[in-house]
Amino acid sequence: MVHAPARPPAGAPPVRINLYSDTQTRPSPAMKEAMMRAEVGDEQHGDDPTVHALCDRMAALMGKEAAIYLPSGTMCNVIAILTHCGKGDEVVAHETSHILHSEGGTHAALTGVQIYPLKGARGQFTADDVRAAIRPKTRYAPPQRLLEVEQTANIGGGTIWPLAQLNAVADVAHGEGWSTHMDGARLMNACVAAGIAPREMVAQYDSVWLDFTKGLGAPLGAVLCGSAEFIGQAWRWKQRLGGSMRQAGICAAACLYALDHNVDRLAEDHANAKALARGLRQIEGIVVEEPDTNLVFFDVRDTGLTVEALQARLALQGIAVSGLGGRVRACTHLDVTAPMIEEAVAAIRAAVSR
Ligand SMILES: *Cc1c(COP(=O)(O)O)cnc(C)c1O
Repeated sequence: MVHAPARPPAGAPPVRINLYSDTQTRPSPAMKEAMMRAEVGDEQHGDDPTVHALCDRMAALMGKEAAIYLPSGTMCNVIAILTHCGKGDEVVAHETSHILHSEGGTHAALTGVQIYPLKGARGQFTADDVRAAIRPKTRYAPPQRLLEVEQTANIGGGTIWPLAQLNAVADVAHGEGWSTHMDGARLMNACVAAGIAPREMVAQYDSVWLDFTKGLGAPLGAVLCGSAEFIGQAWRWKQRLGGSMRQAGICAAACLYALDHNVDRLAEDHANAKALARGLRQIEGIVVEEPDTNLVFFDVRDTGLTVEALQARLALQGIAVSGLGGRVRACTHLDVTAPMIEEAVAAIRAAVSR
């Protein structure tokens, strides 16, 4: 039996304040206008001008030669790993990484790589941690091929890898002849919060992708960037996996709209996340991690409530939060306003003190 994500309890009102995930945004009327006006063609055949425009723009933004439009971030990770690695190869990544926990066992099922899980606070590891993971090049050890990082680190707390640390771990990997891959699901959150241009942030990464459905407000799509050769090979996997599309420009138009209108405003989400953390910190029994970006993780064990009990109480007020790794996660995004944050803090205070 496979469980679907939890639904609100019977009798709960519709969700008004959705802190469950930054994936739950709805396309705005202006984004839908842009989608309606999109020039389209057969994407699989290489004829969709809007998809070409998106890929060209993303390659330039990331300072890479080429880019490929894919239906989801998960497919970006799967295709990047299939392109960098062969069966039996090893990928070195953090123990909390999305590729390990949230891709349905795809690396056992499809890519055939194994993952070497590194420890480290807040979803990050150091150059020394990578050095300590280097295996001898013997017939016994799995061949190590790829280093993977998440910017921002989701389960790590939406944390931002400092640029020097990103570069230091990539240097160790390249020194060993491995490739480097960045899961940039929320890369723009990191770039906006740190004030660092994407091309500088990802310069030492051979491949990188950005999700347009994580706080950027688009209904679907992610773009994977890399060398022309890498993207050429990625296209073969896209075709094999059924990720080649037809009039995909309708969705690519939403992504272009997001690049124009929804990137700089991520700073508002970060300010709202900080306000939420400040408010929660005033509530007895709640332990809050200081957010770097738009994800606020907090522990409610000392209030005597479980994560599920808190979720159920908030659901009755039309407020949704998620549970991740025994903690509560609240995400801010473009459908969450400052007054909603105040209301959510008050509702959480009431829920835990009842
Ligand atoms: C959401 C997410 C993914 C997967 O992206 P989808 O578009 O949901 O497939 C991968 N990595 C991280 C860090 C994510 O947060």
